[in-house]
Amino acid sequence: MGGLSTAKALVTGAVLLGSAAPVVARAEPVLLISIDGLRPGDVLEADKRGLKIPNLRRFLKEGAFTTGVVGNLPTVTYPSHTTLITGVAPARHGIVSNTTFDPRQINYGGWYWYAQDITAPTLWDAAQQGGLTTGNVHWPVSVGVKTLNWNMPQIWRSGHADDRKLIRALATDGLYDALEHDCGSYADGIDEGVDADETRAKFAIRLIETHKPDFLTVYLAALDHEEHLHGPGSAEANGVLERLDAAVGKLVAAELEQRPDATIALVSDHGFASTDTEINLSRAFIDAGLIKLGADGKVASWDAMPWPSGGSIAVVLARPDDLALKGMVGALLEKLSADPQARIARVADQPAIGRMGGNPQASYYVDLKPGALAGNFSADGPLTKPSRYKGMHGYFPALPEMRSTFMIMGKGVARARNLGEIDMRAIAPTLARQMGVQLPLAEVATLKLGD
Ligand SMILES: [Zn+2]
Repeated sequence: MGGLSTAKALVTGAVLLGSAAPVVARAEPVLLISIDGLRPGDVLEADKRGLKIPNLRRFLKEGAFTTGVVGNLPTVTYPSHTTLITGVAPARHGIVSNTTFDPRQINYGGWYWYAQDITAPTLWDAAQQGGLTTGNVHWPVSVGVKTLNWNMPQIWRSGHADDRKLIRALATDGLYDALEHDCGSYADGIDEGVDADETRAKFAIRLIETHKPDFLTVYLAALDHEEHLHGPGSAEANGVLERLDAAVGKLVAAELEQRPDATIALVSDHGFASTDTEINLSRAFIDAGLIKLGADGKVASWDAMPWPSGGSIAVVLARPDDLALKGMVGALLEKLSADPQARIARVADQPAIGRMGGNPQASYYVDLKPGALAGNFSADGPLTKPSRYKGMHGYFPALPEMRSTFMIMGKGVARARNLGEIDMRAIAPTLARQMGVQLPLAEVATLKLGD
């Protein structure tokens, strides 16, 4: 509690300065739980969909909720989770895709695991600067966060047993061993099954019991995994969601036992659309001579490269200021848009990408039609083939199926308040206000949760 009173004393002035309207500075602990891929309708229409999720439904009665959260470009996990804790779009926070740009395909499919790539202040930063203590279990882009007191970061490589040594080495000194001592073996970073999520929830509960962090982030992956494999709303996805609901119930109970005044927020990062077809844009780029392959079949040189993000694809030019190249790629994308096989819904230019908060490195951004998804780079694959995934996200944020979830309960939050549809960037500054700290860069206004 010492941390909280310090924070209150320090930040009240800052909060008042940042807003014209009178603002009551709060200083409540916050538990932020993310269920990857949770569609708002699964909670709002749980009975109709045959879902038994009492712990998620509790937020509708005891707190405030949205009918949908509109995200930024692209609507995929790492960019969205970074928006959720910075309050700014990918163009500003730097996590513009799940995977880092790798035109020569040499990085073994590496993701944006490292917090050093985040170029905006996070809620972890704001909380710790406000004198609060911070914790994390498995939140995306959390390797090397300097403002976490207790960090179990998300990373994986191959799924080999050595991956555990990597997490242990990157976690806060001694934390991995201490939690394993009390809870048994931790989950592999690559494991997105529901058993692994239950293990991570158990570790988060132990972290709450032993350290009572003022701000804790917890990330659960299994619903998204099941929606990709079997489709959104499938029996498999619904079964997993019911188990995650139970895990959320335990997390909330543990938090309220240790921190009865806590605010608890439940979020997701994107919705989901059903899919049947995979599109490999690199086929068209190779055929047009924009990507040249060596004798070994690997990329030897490139002028333009597709950078897939699920249902959409950024197109990066080797020389973005080369107008002839830009025109050539634009003409190719126009030709592909006219080909029903390519399943292109829209091609955005740079001003349109900017309006969606998307990747500033992209000269074009291709939105696929729902049902189609972008395959990874393939030197010899066809333009189109049946997809092994039954569900995908990553489409342009205007697509209604991409809406994500935000629900919140705690002191000062009205009961059963419907906040309607909100902008994802409103969530972080709202949580900052609950903690009595402020995010200097927030791009949109905070939400009105109470009276
Ligand atoms: Zn996700």
